[in-house]
Amino acid sequence: MHELSLMDRVRELALDQAQRHGASRITSITLRIGSLAGVDPEALQFAHEVVMADTIAAGSRLQLELVAAQCFCSPCGAPFAAPDGVCVCPCCGTISSELLQGRQLELAALELV
Ligand SMILES: [Zn+2]
Repeated sequence: MHELSLMDRVRELALDQAQRHGASRITSITLRIGSLAGVDPEALQFAHEVVMADTIAAGSRLQLELVAAQCFCSPCGAPFAAPDGVCVCPCCGTISSELLQGRQLELAALELV
């Protein structure tokens, strides 16, 4: 289950940030997830509980910000939505290789106490 190893990295980042800010607890963690990141939100919630247990982030809330995938069409000079990762411009049919967003999995915000 790769959600566990992802959350493991998130935990390292979050604990590092908390330490830098001298926080004693992490109460909420927000992740930004692209629709093509290939993660299962439910599995992430589960992984979050497992990975954060016994840390200052135990019992914190996990919030997920979902980001829809987008490609850019050069002939049209405009971005378009590519919900399933198929980057074919709906206006001119050009196959775009410029994925603007949709694959990210980032730590977006932390609530520290
Ligand atoms: Zn186009």
